[in-house]
Amino acid sequence: GPSVTLTSLTKRYPGGTVAVDNISLEIAGGQFVALVGASGSGKSTLLKMINRLIAPTEGSISIGNETVDALPDYQLRRRIGYVFQNIGLFPHLTVGENVAIGMRLRGEKQNDERIAELLDLVDLPRDVAKRQPSALSGGQRQRVGFARALATEPKLMLMDEPFGALDPVTRDALVKEYRALHERLGLTTIMVTHDMAEALLLADRVLVMKSGNIMADATPHGMLTGE
Ligand code: ADP
Ligand code: ADP
Repeated sequence: GPSVTLTSLTKRYPGGTVAVDNISLEIAGGQFVALVGASGSGKSTLLKMINRLIAPTEGSISIGNETVDALPDYQLRRRIGYVFQNIGLFPHLTVGENVAIGMRLRGEKQNDERIAELLDLVDLPRDVAKRQPSALSGGQRQRVGFARALATEPKLMLMDEPFGALDPVTRDALVKEYRALHERLGLTTIMVTHDMAEALLLADRVLVMKSGNIMADATPHGMLTGE
């Protein structure tokens, strides 16, 4: 996946809250980064600036050699996979149609074979394509969210508490599978979580945020040993 570079990035919300306070950061291509911190520390704001859901007050972001500002919307959406806690599946559409939304972002028509491949990728049986999301378990629905996000073959995955709503057993399984997908597809992944244990288990690099600043930046080993 591509590198991600943040340069003097600041977000000040109307009303004055500085959610992200002059952060500069280089994330290497292929890295799995966990962004950890208490509620309100600025994690979601930082993530949303990377995929341009929120505009920075100051500073800039590059993905690979390109400034996020300069990318047309459809290209940005194809290149970045975005997964969040409550997935946002459309309840009145089938699972297959939900995955196809990801394909439409890529300018492709709905294609049953491709939908089946995406379901294979996230280890769902192909016949769930015809079902409604409400007929699936929470873990299965989250897999559909991953399939939809991966439909555009993004090389950068942004995830906001992707495992937060799952029971511990489902969560453990999905966490390990996602780590394997990250390797296999050669992704760069930036994951927001408030769970340090999950960050230490999954990530190559852990960033701890507090009041809009990066308070610590280390490997899981470094976090645990203080080296
Ligand atoms: P986290 O994801 O770590 O919980 P956020 O990025 O959501 O943190 O929030 C960081 C700070 O910015 C908090 O103080 C929050 O209240 C504030 N904030 C978030 N969104 C908005 C908004 N739309 N308007 C004003 N303040 C906001
Ligand atoms: P939603 O209301 O669920 O955001 P959209 O049509 O905006 O529906 O998004 C459809 C798909 O695009 C979903 O897979 C979603 O995760 C993904 N997506 C939405 N916003 C972005 C973004 N800024 N960058 C990358 N992917 C996005």
